[in-house]
Amino acid sequence: MTDTRYLVHGVFWDGPPPGSSPAAGSKAADPAKAMDDAGGPVLRLQSPEGDFRELGLHSGARLGFRVAQPGRFCLGHVQVQSAGSRSHILCGSRVPAARGKQCERCFVLDESRLMHDFHRGGRVTPGLRDYLMQEHWLYIATFAGGATKVGTASGPRKWSRLAEQGAATAAYVARAQDGRVVRILEDLVTAEVGLTQQVRSAAKADALLQPLPAADLLATNARAAAEVRALLARTAVDGFETVAEQWVRPAQADALHGPGQRHPYPHALDQGQHGFRITALSGANVLARLDGTDAVFVVNLSQLAARTITLGDYASEVPAVQESLF
Ligand SMILES: [Zn+2]
Repeated sequence: MTDTRYLVHGVFWDGPPPGSSPAAGSKAADPAKAMDDAGGPVLRLQSPEGDFRELGLHSGARLGFRVAQPGRFCLGHVQVQSAGSRSHILCGSRVPAARGKQCERCFVLDESRLMHDFHRGGRVTPGLRDYLMQEHWLYIATFAGGATKVGTASGPRKWSRLAEQGAATAAYVARAQDGRVVRILEDLVTAEVGLTQQVRSAAKADALLQPLPAADLLATNARAAAEVRALLARTAVDGFETVAEQWVRPAQADALHGPGQRHPYPHALDQGQHGFRITALSGANVLARLDGTDAVFVVNLSQLAARTITLGDYASEVPAVQESLF
């Protein structure tokens, strides 16, 4: 057990997509990750010295932590050097987060924010321009409750972006020459088809308590994707081609999207001690088994982002009234 206080950055699904050789991934040396069917989902933590540590969230892993202090603290900001390189700049002042997960200063300095205004004529740095000028994908994602969104992913993040979102099913509808064209298409889809660009994290977690049947979600997604492809076929925008390609969901998400009884995690993640075994993971949502009960719970780890924790052999308290769970 250690008393090191870590700042939680969140859940990341970097690594090779399903079906690709583990050797193709830069982090394949980690046996825990090589065992995974896809990606290598981790909880990324920042130590007080500023270096990063990653906890594997594969099925069977145990996660135990204590929230060390109340509130959220600034996660710093991102600087984009080129298409394939970005660095994370720590917050100099280590202050409480004023805007979500950042302080005012880091929010202003964050370059990943600028990419959303590039296609409207916003100014970008040379590194960010290099990043944005690479190939991008437009996708349609459907979540466990049927909510469907349009979104974009850069070439290298084509698969992992959707894994991090926790989609139930998704399809790529266009390959664009750069990040400017793809965001023009994204806005067009929202304006003409009415698809949202964001589904809230709490809504995704709620939907996983009672996911709709896979066939229904596939049909919903296919309908929306077809409508978008028809729109793209008649648009005057240049610099993309329409595609029909399914995203492959990681197998370790299956248990969360399939039928079966599960319950909302009974404790808030803004305080206290927590410990459970991971049996499945979709996006940032864990299907967790608590010690002393056969019931499984959906834990939304995105609630931990920007919070300070210490790691240890903790166990979540099982809700007192078991009958209410069944
Ligand atoms: Zn800051």
